[in-house]
Amino acid sequence: MENNISNVTDKKYSLDLVEPFDEECHVDRQRRLTKILSEFQEHLAERSNHFLGYHLNQDCSCLTDLSPFLRFHINNVGDPFKESNLGLHSKKFEVAVLDWFAELWEIENDEYWGYVTNGGTEANLQALLLGRDLLPDGILYASKESHYSIFKAARICRMECQIIGTLITGEIDCMDLREKLFANKDKPAIINLNIGTTFKGGVDNLDLVLKTLEECDFSRDRFYIHCDAALYGLISPFLENGPKFSFKKPIGSVSVSAHKLLGSSMPCGVFMTRKRHIADFSRNIEYIATVDNTISGSRNGHAPIFIWYSLNMKLGRMGLQKEVNKCLMNARYLRDGLKNAGISVMLNESNILVVFERPLDLEFIYHWQLSVDGKMAHVIVMPHVTVKMLDDFLSDLTRKREIWYGSGEVRRLCLAEDIGLSNCACSVHGNGNSSRN
Ligand SMILES: *Cc1c(COP(=O)(O)O)cnc(C)c1O
Repeated sequence: MENNISNVTDKKYSLDLVEPFDEECHVDRQRRLTKILSEFQEHLAERSNHFLGYHLNQDCSCLTDLSPFLRFHINNVGDPFKESNLGLHSKKFEVAVLDWFAELWEIENDEYWGYVTNGGTEANLQALLLGRDLLPDGILYASKESHYSIFKAARICRMECQIIGTLITGEIDCMDLREKLFANKDKPAIINLNIGTTFKGGVDNLDLVLKTLEECDFSRDRFYIHCDAALYGLISPFLENGPKFSFKKPIGSVSVSAHKLLGSSMPCGVFMTRKRHIADFSRNIEYIATVDNTISGSRNGHAPIFIWYSLNMKLGRMGLQKEVNKCLMNARYLRDGLKNAGISVMLNESNILVVFERPLDLEFIYHWQLSVDGKMAHVIVMPHVTVKMLDDFLSDLTRKREIWYGSGEVRRLCLAEDIGLSNCACSVHGNGNSSRN
């Protein structure tokens, strides 16, 4: 199915930079710019009220408190734990943020190393780079539902990659993993473990992967596990019986995006590994009078302050736990609403990604900013998503479906292979629900 929404998004904006011309006085110029920017603000406000399909928390309003810091260039060049000649940095904030995550992921402060990245992608690249440096002839194993940044990082690192199948939930198929590990026993394994896949939120079972490695005779010095926890890394620690991953288990690194569950005005993320892994990777650079061990040289010094402030304002672990519970409840609400309307839908346990039948028209997909994959679409019930938004979405969807399917000429998609027989409401599998289109 084609996913071309450029004809919907192609609105006319004239943002050409105009050189000052004689007649235009400063006041006119300012007025013109203010008009453009305030229109753009309105546009953003409208778009964020209809923001359902991506992993971004739009609830960033507390961060406007930090606007005085926009007067400064803040640059955390190099290692967050090393001072530099460049004094305009926020490394104190960065280390405070890292310590918070270290406690969450159960590693002592003097045993980890990490930094605030430009997002999950940079953190994943840093992880695979480290893994490959530690196990130079290692093969990367990643499930086919891994984020595209993993395969991009593999290309950058020129790593051999074995792609592993997945179960209906989106989690890695350990039977397939076992076969491929066995077939490549002579080479070490670098494993990308999804703590929540991008589309379905499937969580790879760490214990089962460890058991599989053991059964295939991979001793601890012959594997490196990176946990890609972009969104779910800030959900799973707050679940009572949720899947746990932490440095108490033999993992090498973790990445999380801070603009996802937590929310931030700009993309940012956290990368964390064991301190001993980074030693060989670091280089002393005289010019910046610090240690270079991060992918970016100059690094965003505002981001750690944003994360630090958000964590404080959202009341740390306790506050996040509440937010997560609200999202889980709202996700179940949406799932039930879709199910009752006779629409194919799947929600993994303790998850906020509601996967359902792809809406037929692009206008609708664009309006609600849904992300789609083949026959599926998903809504991610992030903290900014209210019950009111979900109600509006549900009634809009059911109304549009009357139009799409009302005449009976268009056949409904069968999603049995995508989300399982029991979740499919097509005319063959729908058991009674199907009477409602
Ligand atoms: C979003 C996502 C990423 C990439 O994160 P960015 O912050 O967008 O670079 C990586 N992995 C998974 C599973 C994701 O969902």
